[in-house]
Amino acid sequence: MQEVESLLKYDREHVWHPYTSTINPLPCYLVDSAHGVKISLATGEVLIDGMSSWWAAVHGYNHPELNEAAISQLQKMSHIMFGGLTHRPAIELVKKLVGMTPPELEHCFLADSGSVAVEVSMKMAFQYCDTKFGRDGATQKKKFMTINYGYHGDTFGAMSVCDPVNSMHSLYSGYVRQNIFVEPPQCRFDEEWDDKYIVSFREAIEKHHHEVIAVIIEPIVQGAGGMRIYHPEYLRQIRQLCTKYEVLLILDEIATGFGRTGKLFAFEHAEITPDILCVGKALTGGYLTLSAVLCTKEVAGLVCSGRAKGFMHGPTFMGNPLACNIASKSLDIIKRGNWKTQVKAIESSFKSSLPTLLKLDIVRDVRILGAIGVIELTIKVDAKWFQEQFVKRGVWVRPFGKLVYMMPPFIISDSELEKLITSVIDVIKLFASI
Ligand SMILES: *Cc1c(COP(=O)(O)O)cnc(C)c1O
Repeated sequence: MQEVESLLKYDREHVWHPYTSTINPLPCYLVDSAHGVKISLATGEVLIDGMSSWWAAVHGYNHPELNEAAISQLQKMSHIMFGGLTHRPAIELVKKLVGMTPPELEHCFLADSGSVAVEVSMKMAFQYCDTKFGRDGATQKKKFMTINYGYHGDTFGAMSVCDPVNSMHSLYSGYVRQNIFVEPPQCRFDEEWDDKYIVSFREAIEKHHHEVIAVIIEPIVQGAGGMRIYHPEYLRQIRQLCTKYEVLLILDEIATGFGRTGKLFAFEHAEITPDILCVGKALTGGYLTLSAVLCTKEVAGLVCSGRAKGFMHGPTFMGNPLACNIASKSLDIIKRGNWKTQVKAIESSFKSSLPTLLKLDIVRDVRILGAIGVIELTIKVDAKWFQEQFVKRGVWVRPFGKLVYMMPPFIISDSELEKLITSVIDVIKLFASI
């Protein structure tokens, strides 16, 4: 115990965690290992994972096949530069990605994280416009268009299309590019659609399309920017408007891709195809950082026939073989299709249990789609208190802002899921009573 204390003390004093202060950090728990859906703490507690390590660990931890893919590749090479060299893990992975996405998406750029994938997609769109609309290298198109409450990553390009309030554009004002934001979709996933819901987007694109490089949006589920779930018709009409006004459509499936929403990709709910698609997070089953950007032949063709004669991006660890080999195996597991029944089962458990929380005054809304369950409260939560309560009950859930949400690994068993849901309900009821 003394060793754990001293490690945590060092952590508090020197190790930076996501979105925290070094002066007054949130408490952290020391993890020794994780197997399946269970996270083992150094202090002995075993927690049922409700987060999939932020959408990523869809097959659970320490998966025998993913371990084997890592070990066998490690013994060949863990990395090799991608400039001038290529390798089987990358080729196999791209083959699978191209095979499981719409046939129009033929070219694939392997990047190293979700944020970088978003940067890559934005640069692709920029170069495409430079070739297509540029006159002596000058194009009117200098802005991206998106909707409020989005999240696309923390690098400057990605941040410029994140919700301006949630990602605190004001903090970096003068440095973050000014883009065009439309009010978020007002129609919920399962509500009745009315064309009035697309009016603000349609007016914005009618007015601004001359200056818009691309529309970038998270399909159906807006993740870290607010966990909002919107109507597929909204996305379908955005696709039509983008086509009509010759504006590229970039879909950010980094959170939603690979089954999470009940479809392999969330855009399938709307039966559309993007011009550029970003995937990440669950791509490696949560083992390593890797992302991919797929695009159409037309996009790649114009990007590569323009002034630069190629796409100007190439990270050092591009196409890392270790990550590619694990991702390739993760896609094999996805292709077997068990996720469909697993995600359906998680969805129906959420649907039969979470809506009872709406009776509480502090609960503003409950939103469920696939293996995503969101409880929006009326007030911001104290993450420290919630974490303690969850750990005490043997589950791992990490709320942010007013949102308590679950997105467990697909392999969670009925009894584990029941314990996770019961704990969340208990903690929210306790919170409401104090
Ligand atoms: C997490 C996320 C990103 C950023 O990915 P990182 O790997 O954290 O850089 C981008 N877009 C969406 C929708 C995400 O959920």
